Amino acid sequence: MKICQRYLILFCIACLPTLAQAQWFKDTQAIMGTEIRVELWDTSEPHARGCIDKVMTEMRRIDTTMSPFKPDSELSHINQLAAIHPVKIDKELFDLILRAQWASGISNGAFDITFASIGYRYDYRKGIKPSEDEIKQALPEINYKNIILDRKHSTIHFALKGVRIDLGGIAKGFAVDNSIAILRQCGIKEGLVGAGGDSRIIGDREGRPWMVGIRDPRKEGSSAIVIPLSNTAISTSGDYERYFIKDGVRYHHIINPKTGHSATASRSVTVLGPDATTTDALSTTLFIMGAKDGLRLVDTLPGIEAIMIDAEGKLHYSNGLMDPNPKH
Ligand code: ADP
Ligand code: MG
Repeated sequence: MKICQRYLILFCIACLPTLAQAQWFKDTQAIMGTEIRVELWDTSEPHARGCIDKVMTEMRRIDTTMSPFKPDSELSHINQLAAIHPVKIDKELFDLILRAQWASGISNGAFDITFASIGYRYDYRKGIKPSEDEIKQALPEINYKNIILDRKHSTIHFALKGVRIDLGGIAKGFAVDNSIAILRQCGIKEGLVGAGGDSRIIGDREGRPWMVGIRDPRKEGSSAIVIPLSNTAISTSGDYERYFIKDGVRYHHIINPKTGHSATASRSVTVLGPDATTTDALSTTLFIMGAKDGLRLVDTLPGIEAIMIDAEGKLHYSNGLMDPNPKH
């Protein structure tokens, strides 16, 4: 009996490492008009799959609430009614719009969710753009100060007819942050959630950093640089994501609110920071501001770093990323 017990214990000890062997679990799905990617390190496949499912469900929920393309979304509801009367909205959406307004305030309106007042007239897949007259007419509507938020009643109201908003420059980062919170609740200590150009990493890759490539904006499939990352959020905005070229002009999805045209100061901007809502909003913001003003802003923001590729293809780094041993 004693021997038997001893064998049983030995047998169980021998089994333990294989039973609880941790490994990477991955999934990608097309949601929010982009590729959602979840990778996590876990000991149990059913547990890992359950966590990934929760993340995908959250991505779908945010898409349903915030999509400008779904006529029944809460965002579409705002766009239909907020110029007529104040519209009561969910606290989650209210707070996200407040964060968008923060980005507008610090950038003198480079980030501006009312860009949509003209933005909705672009269709990059079909190569459609608004006329100069339409742009001129819409310019007064494009101003974040046209958004009146009432915190007490949780309402949003537009100061002018014709104002529209779109959260495309911040919602994916927000969805990534919510997903990271879900993974943390799941007990995940190492993982990554990506939504197109916005990602966030918990921990690292088993003691090593994740190697994240920043795409060469003019060469699909090749990286301009690769950076080692752990425990951070990273967002990239580029003029190669959604665009068409007509008469030699690149029409892309990042709109300069001052002109109503696609922003011309950058080809690509990558922002690193503690959360993806902030890095998402700031990558779009800095793209519009350009390297000089953009990096000056970044250097005032604690915990935020940026890598910018300007309109000529030249790389610029924020102070915290400057090469400490430059060759010359
Ligand atoms: P994506 O990951 O979709 O490429 P980005 O973070 O690069 O997104 O931001 C681009 C999106 O931001 C556009 O598709 C649009 O929805 C929105 N956007 C465009 N111009 C502005 C702007 N000036 N201010 C705020 N959002 C903008
Ligand atoms: Mg962005």
